Amino acid sequence: MLVHFLGTAAFEGIPSLFCTCELCVKAKAAGGKNIRTRTSVLFDNELKVDFPPDTLLHMLRDGIDMEDMKDIIITHTHSDHLYPDDLVARLPGYAQAKDHTIHVYGNDAAIRIIHDTLVLNGGDHGKFELHRVRPFERTELRTAVVTALPASHNPMETCYVYYIEKNGKTVFYGHDSGRFPEETWRWLEGKPVDLAILECTMGNIPYDVGHMNVDAVLDAQKRMAETGMLRAGAKIAVTHFSHNAHLLHEDLTDIFAPHGIEVAFDGMRLEI
Ligand SMILES: [Zn+2]
Ligand SMILES: [Zn+2]
Ligand SMILES: [Zn+2]
Repeated sequence: MLVHFLGTAAFEGIPSLFCTCELCVKAKAAGGKNIRTRTSVLFDNELKVDFPPDTLLHMLRDGIDMEDMKDIIITHTHSDHLYPDDLVARLPGYAQAKDHTIHVYGNDAAIRIIHDTLVLNGGDHGKFELHRVRPFERTELRTAVVTALPASHNPMETCYVYYIEKNGKTVFYGHDSGRFPEETWRWLEGKPVDLAILECTMGNIPYDVGHMNVDAVLDAQKRMAETGMLRAGAKIAVTHFSHNAHLLHEDLTDIFAPHGIEVAFDGMRLEI
């Protein structure tokens, strides 16, 4: 399975709009892996997690054919993960899109927002079909089988992380979330994982409520190892970094390389 990291920043991006902090200044000057857009991952060019406001930039930068995409799964409705207005760009009058339907999956809040946005623009015209998924239910997509699990993120919404089974490989897509709820761990323990994608929004800041920091990532790695989740050769990648943590890509690599954890960057492709 080809895992393509399209964006690897938290909400503000790195460098962030309007920010003059030391990290943003350094990142802008250094360029390369220090330039981070809002998070999304594409699997085999056909299954996408989240639809952030930087999707057009991802398409242009990495030469993606968006019409290869068959399914989108949404984690939650924060604007760095769901920018529904850009889905309108696939409707007649805006695009000469192909005939096929893109299926979109998410919690009730996400599906409602997308539904309302499409209705405001004349309906889905068969270009999208929306599906509400419930926690712990195994859902068969055309591209994979996914199970939505509760995250520990926004108390006003049932935010999801996802267990994704595709062509004999499994991915745990674990953000946005602070330390995972026990019910999510109980479901996960013993399930095999070839790749776990975790977030490290907070870096070394001693705060792990709603988002993870370095300690929370290392504790999650330990628990996955102890409960037999990590298959031989399994990878862990961290993403969704905030400029407020003030860590350059090389700083993050220094922190995580000794633990065998990969630091994702925009455009990174992994084969699992
Ligand atoms: Zn986020
Ligand atoms: Zn900044
Ligand atoms: Zn969020």
